[in-house]
Amino acid sequence: MDDSNDDPRKMIDLPTVHKAYLVEKTWGETGVRCCACAQACEIAEGETGLCGTKINIERELYTMNYGDVIVAESRPVEIKPFFHFHPGKTLMTIAAPGCNLSCPWCQNSELSRARPRPLVARQVPMNEVIEAAEAAGDIGVCVSLTEPMTLFEYSLGLFREAGAHKMVTTFVSNGYLTPEAVHMLARAGLSAINVDVKGSERVYRELCGGRAGDEPVWETVKNAAEMGVHVEVTHLVVTGLSDTEESFRAICEKHLEFAGPDIPLHITAYRPAGGYDAPPTPVEFLERAHAVARDMGLRFPYVGNIPGHPLANTVCPECGELCLERLDDGLARDLTSEYRCPGCGYRLPIVT
Ligand code: SF4
Ligand code: SF4
Repeated sequence: MDDSNDDPRKMIDLPTVHKAYLVEKTWGETGVRCCACAQACEIAEGETGLCGTKINIERELYTMNYGDVIVAESRPVEIKPFFHFHPGKTLMTIAAPGCNLSCPWCQNSELSRARPRPLVARQVPMNEVIEAAEAAGDIGVCVSLTEPMTLFEYSLGLFREAGAHKMVTTFVSNGYLTPEAVHMLARAGLSAINVDVKGSERVYRELCGGRAGDEPVWETVKNAAEMGVHVEVTHLVVTGLSDTEESFRAICEKHLEFAGPDIPLHITAYRPAGGYDAPPTPVEFLERAHAVARDMGLRFPYVGNIPGHPLANTVCPECGELCLERLDDGLARDLTSEYRCPGCGYRLPIVT
Protein backbone atom coordinates (compact mmCIF):
# COMPACT_ATOMS: atom_id res chain seq x y z
CA MET A 1 0.00 0.00 0.00
CA ASP A 2 1.55 3.26 -1.14
CA ASP A 3 0.54 5.42 1.78
CA SER A 4 1.30 3.13 4.68
CA ASN A 5 4.87 4.20 5.44
CA ASP A 6 3.46 6.20 8.30
CA ASP A 7 1.54 4.76 11.20
CA PRO A 8 -1.60 3.21 9.59
CA ARG A 9 -3.68 4.43 12.54
CA LYS A 10 -3.43 7.93 11.06
CA MET A 11 -5.62 6.76 8.17
CA ILE A 12 -8.69 5.95 10.20
CA ASP A 13 -10.15 9.44 9.92
CA LEU A 14 -9.51 9.85 6.19
CA PRO A 15 -12.71 10.24 4.13
CA THR A 16 -12.24 7.12 1.98
CA VAL A 17 -11.30 4.90 4.94
CA HIS A 18 -14.32 3.20 6.49
CA LYS A 19 -14.98 0.18 8.71
CA ALA A 20 -15.31 -2.93 6.59
CA TYR A 21 -18.32 -5.23 6.86
CA LEU A 22 -18.25 -9.02 7.14
CA VAL A 23 -15.18 -9.48 9.30
CA GLU A 24 -14.13 -12.21 11.78
CA LYS A 25 -11.42 -12.05 14.43
CA THR A 26 -8.98 -14.92 13.97
CA TRP A 27 -5.69 -15.98 15.52
CA GLY A 28 -3.77 -14.44 18.44
CA GLU A 29 -4.12 -10.82 19.40
CA THR A 30 -4.04 -9.24 15.96
CA GLY A 31 -5.53 -11.27 13.15
CA VAL A 32 -8.78 -10.67 11.26
CA ARG A 33 -10.44 -12.50 8.39
CA CYS A 34 -12.29 -10.63 5.67
CA CYS A 35 -15.45 -12.52 4.77
CA ALA A 36 -16.63 -10.24 1.97
CA CYS A 37 -15.20 -12.31 -0.83
CA ALA A 38 -14.28 -15.92 -1.44
CA GLN A 39 -10.55 -15.24 -1.04
CA ALA A 40 -11.20 -15.18 2.74
CA CYS A 41 -7.97 -13.30 3.48
CA GLU A 42 -6.53 -13.61 6.98
CA ILE A 43 -4.89 -10.26 7.55
CA ALA A 44 -2.27 -9.41 10.15
CA GLU A 45 -1.93 -6.04 11.88
CA GLY A 46 -0.97 -3.29 9.42
CA GLU A 47 -1.34 -5.59 6.39
CA THR A 48 -3.78 -5.55 3.48
CA GLY A 49 -5.73 -8.37 1.88
CA LEU A 50 -5.16 -9.71 -1.66
CA CYS A 51 -7.23 -6.96 -3.26
CA GLY A 52 -5.13 -4.29 -1.57
CA THR A 53 -8.23 -2.37 -0.49
CA LYS A 54 -8.77 -3.73 3.05
CA ILE A 55 -6.36 -3.05 5.90
CA ASN A 56 -6.15 -4.35 9.45
CA ILE A 57 -5.63 -1.48 11.89
CA GLU A 58 -5.58 -2.54 15.51
CA ARG A 59 -7.68 -5.60 14.81
CA GLU A 60 -10.38 -3.68 12.98
CA LEU A 61 -10.70 -4.13 9.26
CA TYR A 62 -11.10 -1.00 7.12
CA THR A 63 -11.78 -0.48 3.44
CA MET A 64 -9.61 2.24 1.89
CA ASN A 65 -11.94 2.67 -1.08
CA TYR A 66 -15.05 4.10 0.51
CA GLY A 67 -16.36 6.40 -2.21
CA ASP A 68 -13.03 6.58 -4.04
CA VAL A 69 -14.86 6.75 -7.35
CA ILE A 70 -12.27 7.12 -10.11
CA VAL A 71 -14.61 6.63 -13.08
CA ALA A 72 -18.18 7.87 -13.53
CA GLU A 73 -19.80 7.78 -16.94
CA SER A 74 -23.14 6.99 -18.50
CA ARG A 75 -23.12 3.75 -20.53
CA PRO A 76 -25.73 1.57 -22.28
CA VAL A 77 -26.96 -1.50 -20.38
CA GLU A 78 -26.00 -3.58 -23.42
CA ILE A 79 -22.32 -2.80 -22.93
CA LYS A 80 -22.27 -4.39 -19.45
CA PRO A 81 -23.61 -6.71 -20.90
CA PHE A 82 -27.25 -6.85 -19.78
CA PHE A 83 -29.49 -7.98 -22.66
CA HIS A 84 -32.58 -8.93 -20.62
CA PHE A 85 -32.66 -5.92 -18.32
CA HIS A 86 -34.17 -2.61 -19.44
CA PRO A 87 -33.02 -2.86 -23.08
CA GLY A 88 -31.90 0.41 -24.64
CA LYS A 89 -31.44 2.25 -21.34
CA THR A 90 -28.27 3.63 -19.75
CA LEU A 91 -26.59 3.34 -16.35
CA MET A 92 -24.22 5.67 -14.49
CA THR A 93 -21.14 3.47 -14.29
CA ILE A 94 -18.66 3.92 -11.47
CA ALA A 95 -15.47 2.13 -10.45
CA ALA A 96 -12.77 2.16 -7.79
CA PRO A 97 -9.19 0.83 -7.98
CA GLY A 98 -8.35 -2.80 -7.21
CA CYS A 99 -9.57 -6.34 -7.74
CA ASN A 100 -9.69 -9.55 -5.74
CA LEU A 101 -8.52 -11.65 -8.73
CA SER A 102 -5.52 -11.19 -11.01
CA CYS A 103 -6.45 -12.40 -14.50
CA PRO A 104 -3.44 -12.09 -16.83
CA TRP A 105 -5.68 -10.88 -19.71
CA CYS A 106 -7.51 -8.19 -17.70
CA GLN A 107 -9.02 -5.60 -20.07
CA ASN A 108 -8.96 -2.94 -17.32
CA SER A 109 -5.59 -3.79 -15.83
CA GLU A 110 -4.59 -0.16 -15.20
CA LEU A 111 -7.51 0.16 -12.82
CA SER A 112 -7.71 -3.38 -11.47
CA ARG A 113 -4.00 -3.53 -10.62
CA ALA A 114 -4.00 -0.03 -9.09
CA ARG A 115 -4.16 0.26 -5.34
CA PRO A 116 -6.04 2.78 -3.17
CA ARG A 117 -4.28 6.01 -2.19
CA PRO A 118 -6.32 7.08 0.81
CA LEU A 119 -4.12 10.09 1.61
CA VAL A 120 -5.00 11.78 -1.66
CA ALA A 121 -8.37 10.23 -2.54
CA ARG A 122 -11.61 12.17 -2.38
CA GLN A 123 -14.81 10.55 -1.18
CA VAL A 124 -17.48 11.14 -3.82
CA PRO A 125 -20.77 11.66 -1.97
CA MET A 126 -23.49 9.20 -2.98
CA ASN A 127 -25.88 11.99 -3.91
CA GLU A 128 -23.33 13.20 -6.49
CA VAL A 129 -23.49 9.83 -8.22
CA ILE A 130 -27.29 9.87 -8.15
CA GLU A 131 -27.42 13.45 -9.45
CA ALA A 132 -25.00 12.60 -12.25
CA ALA A 133 -27.23 9.65 -13.19
CA GLU A 134 -30.33 11.82 -13.21
CA ALA A 135 -28.60 14.51 -15.28
CA ALA A 136 -27.55 11.90 -17.85
CA GLY A 137 -31.05 10.38 -18.03
CA ASP A 138 -29.82 7.05 -16.65
CA ILE A 139 -32.22 4.57 -15.08
CA GLY A 140 -29.73 3.74 -12.33
CA VAL A 141 -26.18 3.01 -11.32
CA CYS A 142 -23.70 0.27 -12.15
CA VAL A 143 -20.54 -0.62 -10.25
CA SER A 144 -18.26 -2.07 -12.87
CA LEU A 145 -14.95 -2.00 -14.82
CA THR A 146 -12.85 -3.29 -11.93
CA GLU A 147 -14.34 -5.65 -9.34
CA PRO A 148 -17.31 -3.90 -7.69
CA MET A 149 -16.58 -5.67 -4.40
CA THR A 150 -13.79 -3.13 -3.95
CA LEU A 151 -16.68 -0.69 -3.39
CA PHE A 152 -18.77 -3.12 -1.35
CA GLU A 153 -19.42 -0.98 1.74
CA TYR A 154 -20.05 2.16 -0.32
CA SER A 155 -22.30 0.25 -2.75
CA LEU A 156 -24.63 -0.84 0.05
CA GLY A 157 -25.29 2.80 0.94
CA LEU A 158 -25.43 3.88 -2.68
CA PHE A 159 -28.00 1.21 -3.52
CA ARG A 160 -30.27 2.34 -0.69
CA GLU A 161 -29.97 5.94 -1.86
CA ALA A 162 -30.61 4.95 -5.47
CA GLY A 163 -33.65 2.93 -4.40
CA ALA A 164 -35.04 6.00 -2.65
CA HIS A 165 -34.78 7.77 -6.04
CA LYS A 166 -36.52 4.84 -7.78
CA MET A 167 -33.36 3.93 -9.64
CA VAL A 168 -32.07 0.45 -10.43
CA THR A 169 -28.74 -0.77 -9.07
CA THR A 170 -26.36 -3.16 -10.78
CA PHE A 171 -23.02 -4.94 -10.41
CA VAL A 172 -20.77 -6.32 -13.13
CA SER A 173 -18.71 -8.70 -11.06
CA ASN A 174 -16.34 -11.64 -11.17
CA GLY A 175 -18.76 -13.22 -8.70
CA TYR A 176 -15.98 -14.16 -6.26
CA LEU A 177 -18.20 -13.26 -3.33
CA THR A 178 -19.37 -14.98 -0.18
CA PRO A 179 -23.05 -15.90 0.14
CA GLU A 180 -23.27 -13.39 3.02
CA ALA A 181 -22.06 -10.58 0.77
CA VAL A 182 -24.57 -11.53 -1.94
CA HIS A 183 -27.28 -11.55 0.68
CA MET A 184 -26.32 -8.08 1.94
CA LEU A 185 -26.28 -6.70 -1.59
CA ALA A 186 -29.68 -8.18 -2.36
CA ARG A 187 -31.09 -6.77 0.86
CA ALA A 188 -29.69 -3.34 -0.01
CA GLY A 189 -31.66 -3.50 -3.26
CA LEU A 190 -29.29 -4.90 -5.89
CA SER A 191 -31.46 -5.16 -9.01
CA ALA A 192 -29.15 -7.02 -11.39
CA ILE A 193 -25.74 -8.65 -11.56
CA ASN A 194 -23.67 -9.83 -14.48
CA VAL A 195 -21.26 -12.53 -13.32
CA ASP A 196 -18.12 -13.11 -15.35
CA VAL A 197 -17.18 -16.79 -15.26
CA LYS A 198 -13.49 -17.21 -16.14
CA GLY A 199 -13.33 -20.97 -16.65
CA SER A 200 -12.51 -24.16 -14.82
CA GLU A 201 -11.27 -24.78 -11.30
CA ARG A 202 -7.73 -24.85 -12.72
CA VAL A 203 -8.13 -21.46 -14.45
CA TYR A 204 -9.16 -19.86 -11.16
CA ARG A 205 -6.48 -21.47 -9.03
CA GLU A 206 -3.53 -21.33 -11.45
CA LEU A 207 -4.17 -18.21 -13.50
CA CYS A 208 -6.58 -15.84 -11.77
CA GLY A 209 -5.34 -16.23 -8.21
CA GLY A 210 -8.70 -17.56 -6.99
CA ARG A 211 -7.88 -19.63 -3.90
CA ALA A 212 -11.29 -21.29 -3.77
CA GLY A 213 -11.53 -22.44 -7.40
CA ASP A 214 -14.63 -21.82 -9.51
CA GLU A 215 -17.29 -22.94 -7.03
CA PRO A 216 -17.92 -19.54 -5.34
CA VAL A 217 -18.71 -17.93 -8.68
CA TRP A 218 -21.42 -20.41 -9.57
CA GLU A 219 -22.77 -20.19 -6.03
CA THR A 220 -23.07 -16.42 -6.50
CA VAL A 221 -25.04 -16.97 -9.71
CA LYS A 222 -27.40 -19.37 -7.95
CA ASN A 223 -27.76 -17.37 -4.74
CA ALA A 224 -28.36 -14.06 -6.49
CA ALA A 225 -31.03 -15.57 -8.74
CA GLU A 226 -32.73 -17.23 -5.76
CA MET A 227 -32.76 -13.87 -3.94
CA GLY A 228 -34.67 -12.29 -6.81
CA VAL A 229 -31.74 -10.42 -8.38
CA HIS A 230 -31.75 -10.42 -12.20
CA VAL A 231 -28.69 -12.44 -13.30
CA GLU A 232 -26.76 -12.71 -16.55
CA VAL A 233 -23.55 -14.69 -17.04
CA THR A 234 -20.54 -13.80 -19.19
CA HIS A 235 -17.81 -16.17 -20.31
CA LEU A 236 -14.77 -14.67 -22.03
CA VAL A 237 -13.25 -17.21 -24.40
CA VAL A 238 -9.49 -16.70 -24.08
CA THR A 239 -7.38 -18.00 -26.95
CA GLY A 240 -5.19 -20.92 -25.97
CA LEU A 241 -6.95 -21.28 -22.64
CA SER A 242 -10.70 -21.76 -22.94
CA ASP A 243 -11.20 -22.07 -26.70
CA THR A 244 -11.89 -25.78 -26.80
CA GLU A 245 -15.29 -27.36 -27.18
CA GLU A 246 -14.61 -29.51 -24.12
CA SER A 247 -14.00 -26.54 -21.83
CA PHE A 248 -16.96 -24.65 -23.27
CA ARG A 249 -19.27 -27.64 -22.73
CA ALA A 250 -18.16 -27.73 -19.09
CA ILE A 251 -19.20 -24.07 -18.74
CA CYS A 252 -22.61 -24.82 -20.27
CA GLU A 253 -23.12 -27.77 -17.92
CA LYS A 254 -22.45 -25.54 -14.90
CA HIS A 255 -24.63 -22.83 -16.35
CA LEU A 256 -27.55 -25.25 -16.65
CA GLU A 257 -26.93 -26.56 -13.13
CA PHE A 258 -26.54 -23.24 -11.31
CA ALA A 259 -28.26 -20.68 -13.53
CA GLY A 260 -30.77 -22.69 -15.54
CA PRO A 261 -31.72 -22.43 -19.22
CA ASP A 262 -33.38 -18.98 -19.18
CA ILE A 263 -30.48 -16.93 -17.80
CA PRO A 264 -28.50 -15.40 -20.68
CA LEU A 265 -24.95 -16.62 -21.34
CA HIS A 266 -22.74 -14.05 -23.11
CA ILE A 267 -19.98 -15.87 -24.97
CA THR A 268 -17.54 -13.04 -25.50
CA ALA A 269 -14.45 -12.55 -27.57
CA TYR A 270 -11.16 -11.89 -25.87
CA ARG A 271 -8.74 -9.29 -27.21
CA PRO A 272 -5.07 -9.03 -26.17
CA ALA A 273 -4.81 -6.92 -23.02
CA GLY A 274 -3.03 -6.60 -19.70
CA GLY A 275 0.21 -8.02 -21.11
CA TYR A 276 -1.46 -11.25 -22.32
CA ASP A 277 -0.80 -11.37 -26.05
CA ALA A 278 -2.47 -14.47 -27.51
CA PRO A 279 -4.44 -13.56 -30.68
CA PRO A 280 -8.14 -12.55 -30.41
CA THR A 281 -10.76 -15.29 -30.17
CA PRO A 282 -11.70 -16.50 -33.67
CA VAL A 283 -15.29 -15.57 -34.54
CA GLU A 284 -15.83 -19.09 -35.88
CA PHE A 285 -15.21 -20.54 -32.42
CA LEU A 286 -17.76 -18.18 -30.84
CA GLU A 287 -20.33 -19.16 -33.47
CA ARG A 288 -19.67 -22.86 -32.86
CA ALA A 289 -19.91 -22.31 -29.11
CA HIS A 290 -23.23 -20.56 -29.58
CA ALA A 291 -24.57 -23.59 -31.47
CA VAL A 292 -23.26 -25.93 -28.75
CA ALA A 293 -24.99 -23.87 -26.06
CA ARG A 294 -28.30 -24.00 -27.94
CA ASP A 295 -27.95 -27.75 -28.50
CA MET A 296 -27.30 -28.26 -24.79
CA GLY A 297 -30.53 -26.46 -23.87
CA LEU A 298 -29.52 -22.85 -23.09
CA ARG A 299 -32.30 -20.69 -24.46
CA PHE A 300 -30.45 -17.35 -24.56
CA PRO A 301 -26.79 -17.65 -25.55
CA TYR A 302 -25.27 -14.56 -27.16
CA VAL A 303 -22.04 -13.82 -28.98
CA GLY A 304 -20.35 -10.73 -27.52
CA ASN A 305 -17.52 -8.29 -28.27
CA ILE A 306 -18.01 -8.70 -32.04
CA PRO A 307 -19.82 -5.47 -33.06
CA GLY A 308 -22.87 -6.03 -35.23
CA HIS A 309 -22.74 -9.85 -35.03
CA PRO A 310 -26.24 -11.29 -35.64
CA LEU A 311 -25.83 -13.74 -32.74
CA ALA A 312 -26.00 -10.74 -30.39
CA ASN A 313 -29.67 -10.38 -31.33
CA THR A 314 -32.49 -11.90 -29.28
CA VAL A 315 -34.47 -14.47 -31.18
CA CYS A 316 -37.53 -16.18 -29.79
CA PRO A 317 -36.53 -19.53 -28.27
CA GLU A 318 -39.98 -20.90 -29.16
CA CYS A 319 -40.30 -20.02 -32.86
CA GLY A 320 -36.95 -18.49 -33.90
CA GLU A 321 -38.39 -15.09 -34.85
CA LEU A 322 -36.13 -12.02 -34.50
CA CYS A 323 -37.21 -10.00 -31.45
CA LEU A 324 -34.48 -7.53 -30.45
CA GLU A 325 -31.77 -6.37 -32.81
CA ARG A 326 -28.50 -4.98 -31.45
CA LEU A 327 -25.86 -2.98 -33.20
CA ASP A 328 -22.43 -2.25 -31.71
CA ASP A 329 -23.10 -1.69 -28.02
CA GLY A 330 -26.75 -0.70 -28.05
CA LEU A 331 -30.27 -1.69 -28.99
CA ALA A 332 -31.02 -1.01 -32.67
CA ARG A 333 -34.61 -2.29 -33.05
CA ASP A 334 -37.26 -3.71 -30.76
CA LEU A 335 -39.62 -5.77 -32.91
CA THR A 336 -41.70 -7.03 -30.00
CA SER A 337 -44.85 -5.75 -28.43
CA GLU A 338 -43.90 -5.27 -24.79
CA TYR A 339 -41.37 -8.08 -25.18
CA ARG A 340 -43.85 -10.48 -26.72
CA CYS A 341 -42.46 -12.29 -29.74
CA PRO A 342 -43.87 -10.87 -33.02
CA GLY A 343 -44.13 -14.44 -34.37
CA CYS A 344 -45.76 -16.52 -31.62
CA GLY A 345 -46.52 -14.10 -28.76
CA TYR A 346 -44.08 -15.76 -26.31
CA ARG A 347 -43.20 -13.32 -23.50
CA LEU A 348 -39.44 -13.01 -23.28
CA PRO A 349 -38.02 -13.11 -19.71
CA ILE A 350 -36.90 -9.48 -19.85
CA VAL A 351 -36.96 -7.15 -16.83
CA THR A 352 -38.36 -3.68 -17.49
S1 SF4 B 1 -9.42 -10.09 -1.47
FE1 SF4 B 1 -11.50 -10.44 -0.74
S2 SF4 B 1 -11.29 -11.44 1.25
FE2 SF4 B 1 -9.29 -10.50 0.71
S3 SF4 B 1 -9.37 -8.49 1.69
FE3 SF4 B 1 -10.07 -8.21 -0.42
S4 SF4 B 1 -12.33 -8.39 -0.32
FE4 SF4 B 1 -11.48 -9.22 1.62
S1 SF4 C 1 -11.69 -10.18 -12.33
FE1 SF4 C 1 -12.04 -8.70 -13.95
S2 SF4 C 1 -11.16 -6.76 -13.21
FE2 SF4 C 1 -10.35 -8.43 -11.92
S3 SF4 C 1 -8.39 -8.98 -12.85
FE3 SF4 C 1 -9.95 -10.37 -13.68
S4 SF4 C 1 -10.65 -9.39 -15.58
FE4 SF4 C 1 -9.57 -7.81 -14.37
